[in-house]
Amino acid sequence: METSLNYTKVSALMGLYRIKVKSGMSENFFDQLLMLVHDMLPENNVLPKSTDEMKKFLKVFGFGYDLIHACKNDCILFRKEYEDLVSCPRCKGSRWERDKHTGEEKKGIPAKVLRYFPIKDRFKRMYRSKRLAEELRWHFTNATEDGTMRHPVDSLTWLQVNDKWPEFAAEARNLRLGLSTDGMNPFSIQNTKYSTWPILLVNYNMAPTKCMKAENMMLTMLIPGPTAPSNNINVYLQPLIDDLKDLWSEGMEIYDAFLKERFTLKAMLLWSITDLHKDWLLSTL
Ligand SMILES: [Zn+2]
Repeated sequence: METSLNYTKVSALMGLYRIKVKSGMSENFFDQLLMLVHDMLPENNVLPKSTDEMKKFLKVFGFGYDLIHACKNDCILFRKEYEDLVSCPRCKGSRWERDKHTGEEKKGIPAKVLRYFPIKDRFKRMYRSKRLAEELRWHFTNATEDGTMRHPVDSLTWLQVNDKWPEFAAEARNLRLGLSTDGMNPFSIQNTKYSTWPILLVNYNMAPTKCMKAENMMLTMLIPGPTAPSNNINVYLQPLIDDLKDLWSEGMEIYDAFLKERFTLKAMLLWSITDLHKDWLLSTL
């Protein structure tokens, strides 16, 4: 059997991990799935055989995540000025979980946790790959000539961005991103207790066939359930928005493996696919 050319180790893992997240699969079942897929592949394949092994690999590879405690009523995140508080400054709710039977507070065990996969390191990593660094320039020379819409590059929003921010537009490597919730309706109610709400960043710099591939749909956040925080989703998006603001205003200096040079990368959030508080997102950028 040939090695699969369609999947790198990272994209295979991210694809499988997304299924776990979407389905609310337990770690035990996910271990079994990884084991099975591992056995299906040629003998010397590199796919991890357990969730633990996968997490370690993803962490080393820059896909580690930050755990950020959240108010159980979704008012605030315990970060920045609230980092050391043990109760929410708005609703006064405790930061810690309560034992269901005794009602006792379990100090140190957070009631709610947001997982954030920091984006800056991952952008740096993308440009260190010669292939990706080249693919990220695709949009620059591939706008439509016949007026048909094949890709966001042919959209009015894209042209408006070019018009309004010519300096940003002049650098082919600057990233144009969109927010998505992985095809799920963020405002529907899920019943599973451990449901999480994945937030993905889609990268529109690449060709249409590549944009929607698992490795380019970056899982950036897992917002804790049980229900979608429809009113307070902005609270959870803050760490991501902070990084996006930095990347928009300051940018960051990184290495481009295709052109073999350092440059200042900037990024812009074009829109959110679900129109999830889009006005608010754009107004903060
Ligand atoms: Zn609160």
